[in-house]
Amino acid sequence: GWKTATVVLGAAFGVPGIAVDTHLTRLARRLGFSTEKNPEKIGADLERLFPKEKWVFVHHALILFGRYRCTARKPRCEGCPLYSECLSQGAW
Ligand code: SF4
Repeated sequence: GWKTATVVLGAAFGVPGIAVDTHLTRLARRLGFSTEKNPEKIGADLERLFPKEKWVFVHHALILFGRYRCTARKPRCEGCPLYSECLSQGAW
């Protein structure tokens, strides 16, 4: 699909893009980076917000943040470094 194509383009041909998985979808919406539900549109929103040279970092940072801090079912909001900026703080 689109996510795989984005990863392959980046890895094989050096064409950067933000591949949106389940973590990026959740985080982009919780943090207010995007109001979209479609991963392709969320990716486009993220690519508009961040400079191209940061896309790889943004991709990995959001995946790790989503995996270890802002998890799907029980995000660890207490002590979260993004708490003051987050649109979803305390929703759990
Ligand atoms: S405050 Fe909570 S919902 Fe917001 S980014 Fe942090 S862990 Fe996620």
